[in-house]
Amino acid sequence: PAASKTIAVNGRDISIPTGLFINGEFVEALGHGQFSVEDPSTGKQILSISEGQPEDVDVAVKAARKALKDAAWASSDPTYRSKLLNKLADLLEENIEDIVHLECADTGKTYRQCRNSDLPDTVETLRYYAGWTDKVLGQTNFTIPETFAYTRREPIGVCGQIIPWNYPLLMFVWKIAPALATGNTVVIKSAETTPLSALKVCEYIAQAGFPPGTVNLVSGFGKTVGSAIAHHMDIDKLAFTGSTATGRFILKASALSNLKKVTLELGGKGPNIIFPDADLDEAVEWSAWGINMNFGQTCHAGTRIYIHEEIYDRFLEKFTERMRKVNVGHPFDQSTDQGPVNSKMQYNKILGYIESGKAEGAELHLGGEAIDKSGGYYILPTIFTNVSPNMKIVREEIFGPVVVISRFSTESEVIALANDTNYGLAAGVHTKDYERAVRVTGALQAGTTWVNMYSFVHWRVPFGGYKESGIGRELGDAALESYTNAKAVYFNM
Ligand code: NAD
Repeated sequence: PAASKTIAVNGRDISIPTGLFINGEFVEALGHGQFSVEDPSTGKQILSISEGQPEDVDVAVKAARKALKDAAWASSDPTYRSKLLNKLADLLEENIEDIVHLECADTGKTYRQCRNSDLPDTVETLRYYAGWTDKVLGQTNFTIPETFAYTRREPIGVCGQIIPWNYPLLMFVWKIAPALATGNTVVIKSAETTPLSALKVCEYIAQAGFPPGTVNLVSGFGKTVGSAIAHHMDIDKLAFTGSTATGRFILKASALSNLKKVTLELGGKGPNIIFPDADLDEAVEWSAWGINMNFGQTCHAGTRIYIHEEIYDRFLEKFTERMRKVNVGHPFDQSTDQGPVNSKMQYNKILGYIESGKAEGAELHLGGEAIDKSGGYYILPTIFTNVSPNMKIVREEIFGPVVVISRFSTESEVIALANDTNYGLAAGVHTKDYERAVRVTGALQAGTTWVNMYSFVHWRVPFGGYKESGIGRELGDAALESYTNAKAVYFNM
């Protein structure tokens, strides 16, 4: 068995298992490698943990396969699976402070966001899928002469799951909850910059009493562990959340291996449209939330704001004032609205985009620079105006606190501008004219659209992308479909 370590986070001692979680216990990686996890608010190492490799993925897949069959997880009583998922939710609630502390130290998220939003959403997502276990039913069909047919929904089998660093815990649960509810087993890889909360949750998975092998966590890097999961010949389904570039790689890996079923939740470049009849103060508040939530490190962030020319100056002034008030500070400070971005790589990438915006002739209206706070990766909220549709800052996902603002005059013009992107994850419309709201949301090519709000995602409603933002849907009942195969049974009557 692998070691655990106790670390101090903001004055709180927390023990954290440092091994891989395979077959119900924490084990050392076969190669005994370790990698370092750092705190983005200081750039300093928090601790080092076991680094998985492809051979560890093999062991994890064997355990997951065994749990499916020998431990009869796939055919287990749905009530049993429901109880376990609810038990896990209870354990997360009981230990909420430890998990929130780990998540903040690992990601740079604010304590407030994590405690009031990420963690409650995580717990509710578990409970929601706990409620579904006995409701995933097939259909009967008597419409075919001399034939009776029915369908049953069967678990797909061993699911590989790969998650990003922006919502480590929430993504972990978005992935495992519907998979387990429907009787699948899981081999999951956390992101290399944010592996801690998943390790801690695996401790609770063991405590809750999930049979060994139902959930296996192999921490490590994309090119090794991620790629091994994507290419594995004995993984039946792969659910991936991350960048569009890696999503292409995943799809190709499936094609080159065993054609495992693939769902992809990828990047975005969300348009957020403000019509002249919108409630300006409300629209400002939601637009600020659209970019401030998780400091722009959100796939559905509202990063392109389109303002009608009649209200352009007024909106911009109010919005700028609002963004000026964003308090950039330490994640554990209660008055902080925005912490450091997640990693040095991300920090450099965002600053690179800010430079490119300036070089391409956009006007830097607010922010645009890093601030120095004890070595952490802090970047000021940034607004660019005078942008044109072909600039990199308008086309590419920056994944940081940077928003670009454009002016429009007609509805058809703004629909064309909003849809002028390879992405299609989310979009917002602000107007009091409900006919317009229905018309424009209908015309926007995005998997999620909001009217008079932005960046609101609920576990009961399907979430996913149009175009290059993904394939398939997570959350709601849609996720249950993506974790089951429909089997048709015909009777000759
Ligand atoms: P990323 O694609 O670099 O990494 C995501 C995960 O994939 C990580 O665990 C990483 O280790 C792994 N990975 C990297 N290369 C791999 C490879 N060759 N094979 C297998 N796995 C590999 O993305 P990121 O920078 O960590 O995350 C940010 C991206 O995630 C953004 O584009 C964001 O929009 C997207 N995202 C999308 C959603 C959504 O639901 N649509 C949610 C959150 C984040």
